[in-house]
Amino acid sequence: MGDKNRVINGIPASPGISLGRAYIYHRNSKTVNKRLIPSEKIKDEVKRFQRAVELAIEDLTKLQEKIAKNLDQNTLKIFSAHQAVLEDPEVIEVTIVRIRQEKVNAEYIFNDVINGWISNYSTLDNSFFRERTADFEDVLYRVLTKLTGEISFKKFDKTTPVILIARNLSPSDTAEIGRGTVCGLVTDIGGQTSHTAIVARGLGVPAVVGAKVATSEIDEGMLIIIDGNSGTIYLEPDDQTIQKYKSLLAKQVAFKTELQELNNLPAVTIDGRLIELSANIELPVEIDDVLEKGADGIGLYRTEFLYLVRNDLPSEEEQFQVYSEIARRVAPNNVIIRTLDLGADKISSQLLKEEINPALGQRGIRLCLSHPEMFKVQLRAILRASVNGNIRVMFPMISGYSELEQAKDLFQETCDDLKQAGISHDSSVPLGIMVEVPSAAVTANDLAKGVDFFSIGTNDLIQYTIAADRGNSNIASLYNPCHPAVLRLVAGIIDSAHNNSIWVGVCGVMAANPLTACILLGLGVDELSMSPNDIPWIRRLIRSVNYDELRQLSSEAIKLGTSEEIEKYVEPYRIKRQF
Ligand code: PEP
Ligand code: MG
Repeated sequence: MGDKNRVINGIPASPGISLGRAYIYHRNSKTVNKRLIPSEKIKDEVKRFQRAVELAIEDLTKLQEKIAKNLDQNTLKIFSAHQAVLEDPEVIEVTIVRIRQEKVNAEYIFNDVINGWISNYSTLDNSFFRERTADFEDVLYRVLTKLTGEISFKKFDKTTPVILIARNLSPSDTAEIGRGTVCGLVTDIGGQTSHTAIVARGLGVPAVVGAKVATSEIDEGMLIIIDGNSGTIYLEPDDQTIQKYKSLLAKQVAFKTELQELNNLPAVTIDGRLIELSANIELPVEIDDVLEKGADGIGLYRTEFLYLVRNDLPSEEEQFQVYSEIARRVAPNNVIIRTLDLGADKISSQLLKEEINPALGQRGIRLCLSHPEMFKVQLRAILRASVNGNIRVMFPMISGYSELEQAKDLFQETCDDLKQAGISHDSSVPLGIMVEVPSAAVTANDLAKGVDFFSIGTNDLIQYTIAADRGNSNIASLYNPCHPAVLRLVAGIIDSAHNNSIWVGVCGVMAANPLTACILLGLGVDELSMSPNDIPWIRRLIRSVNYDELRQLSSEAIKLGTSEEIEKYVEPYRIKRQF
């Protein structure tokens, strides 16, 4: 505190710039005491718990109605997810059984059950689940409030816009705060895909998360600027910084209007190169967004989420229904269904033995090949659904040709079984692989001869090439998509694909970053696939660049020796296009 123009850096979570006074938001903490309940009162204790859950569900329903007009579908889905937790037998029934068995008060048991889920999820090497622990916290607070009669949410009563600073924000906190009075969000914890980020994007509010020291360094009422594009927060900025950001703000307003107008225009460069702009989805509910943003199809459907949300194996019929529905809705565009990419890094279950180093263990196609019966259930479901749209199948984590052949053999066996049983399917479904392991990248020329397409999984390719865990914030600075080794591998993969006349896309986060997207476009990629929210501005980027210029730029960039040099070389091109 004190010096002018101090800077805190966090993770950019929702794009845009905001200038305003800080408002420190604290959620009341709760302590939950353990009480023994006499046997004759257990029935009442269970009823008290059930009533609290009912009331919490009623509150959520009202909240959804209240915010329905203001927030997008994504945000509403978050609240349905909370409702689902309150209807989940794994949560509710388990709590009731424990109240009866342990003869202990409802709030204590419920707190314990929810915290069990939170600690399970927070150890997963999957940011989607790690960051959704806020949902469980939210549900916990709602029910505890009903049980204890306390008010758990600090009322937000600001009438003039403020930048809200919090250690963490749950989706409910964010929604109760509402649109209009908050012009920016900063949290100490959280990642790029946390719910704070999702809700902030839904509200169109710039946000920086994971700023670590924000609540301790920022004082109530302090003038601050947050840059949601870079993750920078300026504390008590000087006049020069304020002027700079005011003019950037004016440009931002114009930019938003321009983006909306582009939604259904093709992603074509100035000199006429058409790029496919596709969406990555984890759950079928995201299809509305995909269609609204005018995506050219689904470039990556992470099917393991079907398994992850329930922690068991969905049946062939269930999978068939889900894949068919997606294929129908997205037709005539393609849906690339990635077969299960599960591993002990994502979830623990009977299928997965505990591993010392799960990211290098039995994940993705390795797990499927060692459980062919399970794999064939998924392949049957996909093949049956293939008659309902334009489905493509993609194998994850392929590390070499023999692994690919084993996967293709199982695919062929599944086709033969269906044919023999007279079950309709499309046996000519295109087959592709994720190129995300360095050994696959280096042998891409051979692998390209065995498949119809490649999609480069840069999230993993970066971590395996640099040996830098993608989820470890201690080495986050090493995990750099502009590392020359990564870019040269990507260039080689694209060339190998094209030399063998196959299509190649990129579905890692690199595709949604303007600087790296410029490099990928220049390297000749055919498709970029990203979360639906990122599509509009990457569409705008593509429509404002010149492919020939980018080709030149990228071919020079990848010759440079360090990430810093590469970034410095490409940055002016990006800035010229106001990104
Ligand atoms: C990737 O590795 O780049 C990718 C898109 O897949 P995931 O993030 O699911 O590993
Ligand atoms: Mg991957």
